[in-house]
Amino acid sequence: MSKTLFEKIRDREIPAAFVYEDDRCICFKDIGPQAPVHLLVVPKTVIVRINEAVESDESILGHLLLVAAKVARQEGFAEDGFRLVINNGPHGGEAVPHLHVHVLAGRQLEWPPG
Ligand code: 5GP
Repeated sequence: MSKTLFEKIRDREIPAAFVYEDDRCICFKDIGPQAPVHLLVVPKTVIVRINEAVESDESILGHLLLVAAKVARQEGFAEDGFRLVINNGPHGGEAVPHLHVHVLAGRQLEWPPG
């Protein structure tokens, strides 16, 4: 199986601006930011998309959310607020089939999203 884009970033085969890493996930700046702060929190082990997650993924899925909040505090935008997004499938706007949590912050975000 060939590596996903985010596995290549995990393995430093493709450069990225890392802001956090632990034994289970990485967090780095999105290359095409949709807000002044746009980070991706990505599990080191591939889950293709949330619709394909299984019971045994429960712990890592919770970990990704806790890391997103930890990074928000670490980077100093937690108090102003932020948004977490997981895109799933064509209508969800998913482009990279390796589950990731978008962390968006740094401006007033609109609702509903486009
Ligand atoms: P999706 O649309 O799958 O939810 O999000 C994929 C995200 O990955 C997009 O926001 C896109 O800008 C980001 N992305 C795609 N290629 C790269 C890359 O090579 N480096 C980084 N840092 N982000 C990428």
